[in-house]
Amino acid sequence: MQKPHFETNAIRTQTEITGEKEHSTPMYLTSSFRFDNAEEMRALFAGESEGNIYSRYSNPNTNELIEKVCLMEGTEAAFATSTGMAAVFTSIAAFLKQGDHLIASRAVFGSTHQILTQILPRWGITHTYVDPVHCDEWEKHILPETKMILLETPSNPGLSITDLEKAGKIARKHNLLLNVDNCFATPYLQQPAKYGADIITHSATKFMDGQGRVLGGIVAGRKELIDEVIFFNRHTGPAMSPFNAWVISKSLETLAVRMDRHCENALAIARFLESQSAKISNVLYPFLESHPQYELAKKQMRLGGGIVSFELRGGLEAGQRFLDELKMITRSSNLGDTRSIATHPASSTHSKLTEVERLAVNITPGLIRISVGLEHPDDVISDIEQALGHIT
Ligand SMILES: *Cc1c(COP(=O)(O)O)cnc(C)c1O
Repeated sequence: MQKPHFETNAIRTQTEITGEKEHSTPMYLTSSFRFDNAEEMRALFAGESEGNIYSRYSNPNTNELIEKVCLMEGTEAAFATSTGMAAVFTSIAAFLKQGDHLIASRAVFGSTHQILTQILPRWGITHTYVDPVHCDEWEKHILPETKMILLETPSNPGLSITDLEKAGKIARKHNLLLNVDNCFATPYLQQPAKYGADIITHSATKFMDGQGRVLGGIVAGRKELIDEVIFFNRHTGPAMSPFNAWVISKSLETLAVRMDRHCENALAIARFLESQSAKISNVLYPFLESHPQYELAKKQMRLGGGIVSFELRGGLEAGQRFLDELKMITRSSNLGDTRSIATHPASSTHSKLTEVERLAVNITPGLIRISVGLEHPDDVISDIEQALGHIT
């Protein structure tokens, strides 16, 4: 048989160890595992043989999920964490120490910004923010103590695109670790390892689960790097629960078909929004010809993703009014769900940033982010249309 494709790996990567011939992987709700004898126990603890010891280290369900994600991302190894933020935090903390510095895209997730600005400085780890789009300017910020480049593409909620190939080249040239949060794209749309990313993180809470049920995170990369992540996590403890791993692994079976539809619907909605220029001044979607990095998005992404952002001419007031008038689309901070979700970042997820900081990452007062779900796109458009009708 030929080497299986992405979709096949997502479905056929299964743990099968009970001997009961289950067709669907069972859930292994066990905190720990038994050993037949003292020698087996010794060898496992010494790392001389492979097997499950304790579910904070590994579990058949997390093992299945990890194996699957590695095939999807094209990485050698991975570790599953309790949340996306645990993945982002360990992807930095497992590698950096006091005195180290990192270069970070200014357009990182809100909690990642808090880690960089409020938490890591306590341990003497500093950062410099750089523009996500103009990679050519990054090199002048690299210091002797710089160890890592951290970025997210497409970014949230401004949907700017960072050139992964250029970022990979800068990382190689200066011997830095390139750490990419691939949550918005998922491995179906974009595989950062192909461009030289050393570490890839995910909030599996989003499109990977895709149904807004569980939290989870992934850190993936080369084995020698993930061994560091595993050491760090085993002893600090943010492991994914077997139940969540079972849910997310099942969800990945449909990732490709879900993402195809998320992207198709998102493009239709983006095009509708572009037609509403009386009330909307700007529509951001990577696969719209009007996106400033449309060509780059086409080069490194299979499709444009499930998130569309747009700017209401009426500013802050119009943004909040729009949210209040929605009848079907959910007001929630989550994304990557079957249900379409709207947020107004300036008054919620990014309200802790200053106005200047918000504008630096394209968050204008009237910006609305829609995570386009899998409802019929005409129904989503109809809800947006009626809500826009209330804005003067
Ligand atoms: C949601 C999100 C996270 C955090 O994930 P949690 O699972 O909520 O902890 C990190 N990065 C991006 C891009 C996200 O959207």
